[in-house]
Order: sequence, then C-alpha cells, then structure tokens
Amino acid sequence: QAKEKGRNTFHFYTPELHLRAHDTLTLEASLRKAIERDQLCLHFQPQFSLTRRRPVGLEALVRWEHPELGLISPDRFIPLAEETGLIVPIGEWVLRTACRHHREWLKMGMRPMRVAVNLSRRQFRQANLIEMIGAILDETGLPPEYLELEITESSIMNDVGSAIATMRALREMGVHLAIDDFGSGYSSLSCLKQFPISKLKIDRSFVRDLTLGGENAAITQAIIALARSLGLEVVAEGIESKDQLRYLKKRGCHHGQGFLFSRPLPAAGLAEMAQDWIPRFTFGRRLQAVGI
Ligand code: C2E
Ligand code: MG
Ligand code: MG
Ligand code: MG
Repeated sequence: QAKEKGRNTFHFYTPELHLRAHDTLTLEASLRKAIERDQLCLHFQPQFSLTRRRPVGLEALVRWEHPELGLISPDRFIPLAEETGLIVPIGEWVLRTACRHHREWLKMGMRPMRVAVNLSRRQFRQANLIEMIGAILDETGLPPEYLELEITESSIMNDVGSAIATMRALREMGVHLAIDDFGSGYSSLSCLKQFPISKLKIDRSFVRDLTLGGENAAITQAIIALARSLGLEVVAEGIESKDQLRYLKKRGCHHGQGFLFSRPLPAAGLAEMAQDWIPRFTFGRRLQAVGI
C-alpha cells in the first residue's frame, strides 16, 4: 500500500516538477537574449529630503518586458540571473544605461543628485568590477560623485576583508556607497564604522507597520540613531502613508522613497518631469499635500 501511495505521489509530482524545471530553462534562455532583443528597461524612483521639499536622488530599477509573459519583476529574474551568471552582462547594461540617462538629465539642467544602482552579491564580487565601472563612467561622462551603488549586508558580510577593499577602491574613484535593505540581514555593528559608505537604507519591512509602534518601530528608530551618530545619510524605503512619513520625519530620518511620493517612473516620463524640475520643482505641491 505504501508502495502504491509512493507511486501515486510520484505520478502526482513529476509533471509539476518537470514543468517548473522547463519554465526556468525557458526563462533562462529568453533572459539570455533579453538584452540584445531590447527587452530590458529601467525605471527610476526618486528619493526626497524629508525636511526640504526637494528630490535628492534617483534609484534605477530594472524591468523585463517579456513578449509573452508581460512585465516580469526583478524579484523574479534577478535571482535567476544571479544563479546563471547572466547578472554580469545584465548588471553592466543596467549601470551603463543608468549612467547614460543620468548624464543626459544633468546636462539638461536637472538639479544635481545621485543615481543609485543596485549591485547584487555576485556583481559585487566580480573580479573586474572596478575596471568595469571606471570604463562606464569614462564612456558615459558621468562624474563619479553622481553614482551611488547599493549593496546589501549579505554581499559584505560573506568576506568582510575583501568587501572593505572593494568598497575603498570604489570610494577612491569618487563613487558613493549605500547599504540597501539595512536591518534585514546580518551585519556587525563594529564593522559598520569601517565601511566607507555614505548611506543606510532602512528596509521596507520595518517601515510597513511603523506606526503601530512595536518592534519594527523600535528597530527603525535605532537605525536612524545609528546612522546619524556615524554621520551617515539615512533613507526610509517603501513610504506609503502620511503617517509613516510624519513618524520618520519626527525621528530625524533624512530622506524617503516610496509610493507616497512617486512610483518608479519610466525614463521617458522622468525626462519630461525633469523639465519641470528645472525652474521649480513641480512635486512641490504634491509634497506639501503629503505634509513635508
Ligand atoms: P530594492 O533595491 O530594495 O528596491 C526597492 C523596491 O521597493 C523596488 O521594487 C521598488 O519598486 C519598491 N518600492 C518602492 N517604494 C515602495 C512602496 O512605497 N511600496 C512598495 N510596496 N514597494 C515600494 P522592484 O523594482 O520590484 O525591485 C525589487 C528588488 O529587485 C530591488 O529591491 C533590488 O533588490 C532588485 N533589483 C531591482 N533592479 C535591480 C538591478 O538593476 N540590479 C540588481 N542587482 N538588482 C535589482
Ligand atoms: Mg535598492
Ligand atoms: Mg531596498
Ligand atoms: Mg530589496
């Protein structure tokens, strides 16, 4: 009987597993061609100063427009790209495209701010990372101080010594560094002061139920205090409500990013908005409405 049950289970699961493996392979094959087929694009989400009504940065976020499956979120294909090594060409494409757009916008007269690009773990450990970034900055003409790289705690903590060496080399080039999703991973507080970083980004999971008080509120306050005492900028991710905004502003959080201010925007739409940002920042009225 057990054998029969086993066989049934076998029959029940095989097609599904097979389908999933097939899906991943198909997805990988089409991801391999996504760059040359021009299916990747970047959206940009602005970050705002919570005390002064103005944008202080943009984060580049990659999107994949699959011809059959539609828009695929990076949470789905970045891990696949990491596993297969495709993150290397994709990451390079993202960096080049973000730098190129940003250089263009600065040339158009957009107020000076940095563009942030996410680096996954494998990219951060890529042997030629420094040369690749240097070459892209040269090629696009973006001054290094306008580029910020977002890395996660887990990229660093795996091998702290070599991570610090990489971070120093990037910082010496003039590039800024931010720790993304801070608080969600494991990092040693004693190491933090050795990192040549400019910014901590508070993970969205803490911001979500901030106004209920409780542990996430306590962690958020601790991160703000930590960042401020180390002389780092602190950005809250995923601000969706006025209550969250008020709470963060009151506790001294410098900057914010979230749907309350703006969703990630396609480059084309952003260029149009950048036109309005030149004479007078047009989100101003919206920001007043949300209480900054
Ligand atoms: P992340 O770097 O933490 O980016 C922030 C994510 O939060 C983005 O999701 C953004 O759309 C979302 N978000 C921003 N404000 C809000 C809000 O108010 N509410 C909610 N619910 N979400 C908000 P997205 O674009 O789907 O990206 C997900 C993750 O994928 C990123 O998290 C990052 O880890 C990764 N990723 C995105 N683009 C790239 C890339 O070019 N390279 C690499 N290596 N990773 C990327
Ligand atoms: Mg990020
Ligand atoms: Mg994040
Ligand atoms: Mg994230």
